Amino acid sequence: SLTIPVAVVRWQDFDQDLYVGATVVRPGQDPYARNKFNQVESDKLRMDRSVPDTRHDHCRHKQWRTDLPASSVVITFHNEARSALLRTVVSVLKKSPAHLVKEIILVDDYSDNPEDGALLGKMEKVRVLRNDRREGLMRSRVRGADAATASVLTFLDSHCECNEHWLEPLLERVAEDKTRVVSPIIDVINMDNFQYVGASADLKGGFDWNLVFKWDYMTLEQRRARQGNPIAPIKTPMIAGGLFVMDKNYFEELGKYDMMMDVWGGENLEISFRVWQCGGGLEIIPCSRVGHVFRKQHPYTFPGGSGTVFASIQSRLEMKKRLGCKPFKWYLENVYPELRVPDHQDIAFGALQQGQNCLDTLGHFADGVVGVYECHNAGGNQEWALTKDKSVKHMDLCLTVVDRTAGSQIKLQGCRENDSRQKWEQIDNNSKLRHVGSNLCLDSRSARNGGLTVEVCSPSLTQQWKFTLNLQP
Ligand code: UDP
Ligand code: MN
Repeated sequence: SLTIPVAVVRWQDFDQDLYVGATVVRPGQDPYARNKFNQVESDKLRMDRSVPDTRHDHCRHKQWRTDLPASSVVITFHNEARSALLRTVVSVLKKSPAHLVKEIILVDDYSDNPEDGALLGKMEKVRVLRNDRREGLMRSRVRGADAATASVLTFLDSHCECNEHWLEPLLERVAEDKTRVVSPIIDVINMDNFQYVGASADLKGGFDWNLVFKWDYMTLEQRRARQGNPIAPIKTPMIAGGLFVMDKNYFEELGKYDMMMDVWGGENLEISFRVWQCGGGLEIIPCSRVGHVFRKQHPYTFPGGSGTVFASIQSRLEMKKRLGCKPFKWYLENVYPELRVPDHQDIAFGALQQGQNCLDTLGHFADGVVGVYECHNAGGNQEWALTKDKSVKHMDLCLTVVDRTAGSQIKLQGCRENDSRQKWEQIDNNSKLRHVGSNLCLDSRSARNGGLTVEVCSPSLTQQWKFTLNLQP
């Protein structure tokens, strides 16, 4: 049978102005409305703009194996700005050795305009799959992975820009051991002006007990240990989300993604737990850098509501049993020992936040005062628990009201059972901390003049404290 030849366009010949020009922000329109990033700035850039090489110097001399396997790049998108999607695709083609990218699979997750994806399908190596209803990013990625013909999968978000030699170091780690799941250092593409900014190489992925992903700064010890080899792979408890490379067979053996997850969120925690518990490992590879547009809001809707994205996990639990995966406790103890785990005695846990600031020991010990410091989400001096026996605890130090008069300073003292000077409770919808014996409230008004005090309870903002996690209903 005859096949009709399809004109394939090299990326250099793709008509960017025609493609992006059709959906520009009109005068008077809000440039953030559609994407929750500044589309006007994104549209201004050339599809192959140059970005700073943010890698460590050592990476520049590095040689990669010559027998690396080719990869299928899977990019899912829903109503992505054309300019951002185009730059993602072009950066893959431009910044990768041609023989290592077998294909780019775009999964159009039912975007309003089918042409957003279809027009890119004319470009070399690009294949477009379009969902006929909104599936969410997990099922979309699985659809892309199922269609992939290479032995290694590379997942990217639809608003990325790959940097110099981003792909080789990732493929190398997976080629050497297929149970490694690896991600680049994710640089920051500023959502307002689209500047490309290098991210710190001293971060690992983690999470808090609201099950929200966060970056953890390495401890001093960990940073020291890396000084001899600053470009060595970084073992990480968690991957940030949609930028990673994984062997295709291993992705399948390990259960892909939970097909009952909808829209967005949680899948990075789930796959991270599963990889570690079921015998694999997660790494960040410092010589690989990919920029990503981080934004503060979702530009898209959550059909059915954002509270309905998770379903029963029975079949996933059975699968983990079949795979002989280790228990979550093993993960906590061996992969993420830095994470403090709330215990049965805790009513509330985490940082005690007041606006941008958090209650902080300031490094003080027994008989020291406490203060506030900008929240860093790294636990440490900002980690507190309110326990069932009403103490506000940092390790074995408790917030203590030495003098029960308004204006008196709070001290850190060793926790003692049944000491009324150390008993606190949350009041006003868990928004304040009241010292039980004096009915005075924890207050930051004198934070700069010596330390935190107790004051007559009032609606003052200096008395508003919120724990990261409240375990009470
Ligand atoms: N996405 C999708 N379907 C959805 C929601 C998101 O295909 O229902 C895509 C989205 O276009 C992006 C990726 O999934 O390429 C990750 O989403 P997003 O960038 O919003 O997540 P974030 O990076 O903010 O965590
Ligand atoms: Mn994203």
